[in-house]
Amino acid sequence: MAAHNPVRAEVEINLDNLRHNVALLVRRAAGADVMAVVKADGYGHGAVPVARAALAAGATWLGSCSLAEALALRAAGVEAPVLAWLDTAGTDLAAGVAAGVDIGVSSVEQLARVRGGRVHLKVDTGLGRAGCPPPLWAELCAAAAASDNEVHSIWSHLARADEPGHPATDEQARRFAAAHEVALAAGLRPRRHLANSAATLSRPDLHFDMVRVGIAMYGLNPLPQPEDLRPVMAFRSSVALTKRVPAGESVSYGHTWTAPVDTTLALVPVGYADGVPRLLSNRFDVLLAGKRRPVRGRVCMDQVVVDCGDDDVPVGAEVVLFGDAARGEPTATEWADTLGTIDYEVVTGMHRPRVSRRYA
Ligand SMILES: *Cc1c(COP(=O)(O)O)cnc(C)c1O
Repeated sequence: MAAHNPVRAEVEINLDNLRHNVALLVRRAAGADVMAVVKADGYGHGAVPVARAALAAGATWLGSCSLAEALALRAAGVEAPVLAWLDTAGTDLAAGVAAGVDIGVSSVEQLARVRGGRVHLKVDTGLGRAGCPPPLWAELCAAAAASDNEVHSIWSHLARADEPGHPATDEQARRFAAAHEVALAAGLRPRRHLANSAATLSRPDLHFDMVRVGIAMYGLNPLPQPEDLRPVMAFRSSVALTKRVPAGESVSYGHTWTAPVDTTLALVPVGYADGVPRLLSNRFDVLLAGKRRPVRGRVCMDQVVVDCGDDDVPVGAEVVLFGDAARGEPTATEWADTLGTIDYEVVTGMHRPRVSRRYA
């Protein structure tokens, strides 16, 4: 179907699908609070519209990485509780406290930079990334108890929750329980949060007081088993030019593909500057005029070429690069599988100056 104004490069963000996913996660969290993680501009979907839609659908908290991301939510008028969990040593955490942002704290040094705020103490239970190492945990709990901050929660993050049944998750849960005992012994009465999307869907025993969901809210399933999640982002373009070429003609830089028979080629004006990885050259399909069709030759900075065989494809026809498998469209997950990465990286990488974003 040709749109009225064929788009050059556009991501459509379907907030109905996002609300559907959040409602599903709220049901699965069964009484635990749901924190909608909107770091990295909402995984490339737009932090503020995502935050508003997620709160409307039953999420009660927001999660950001940097304090700047949390402050941007406040500046947009979002008043829900927000946790910011990773900043550099020079960050002015007082500005976060003043804006009512909760601060994630992994060390005594970080704690010392928060005054009169609300903190979530993070323990490293085996991800080996942020979080306080267990040998230093008692000291951090004691310092927090003695400080003028309110300790809202203790928390940690899972390394392998997307591999259901993996013993590493149970080991992290054991260490988290031990860390909780230490916090209680220090006189704290903290809430607890541990689960990401994968654990929210697969480990109800690890929901505690709150779950922190990212990828599943955006409709991408981190687990091997099916879930009723609907992808929120679709990436579209349109046909800019078509041409008939004879057998033996080659396509794009390096002539990595040669037409085996006479065929019709459609030129689509998106390339690696628009988020189509060059590593997908000759390795992906688009949905064009009702059919999945192969992209031939190298992905260029600004364009790709689609083989349409003997079909008569109109200039201006819509091209779906990825979207919803339920509509026969290729998916961000297919791209990730071909590229040897994860769909998180695909959608987060779509925040680009030349790609417009439309909310539906
Ligand atoms: C990104 C992030 C999440 C969300 O993870 P998903 O796998 O996208 O659900 C949760 N917690 C922390 C600390 C994170 O950094």
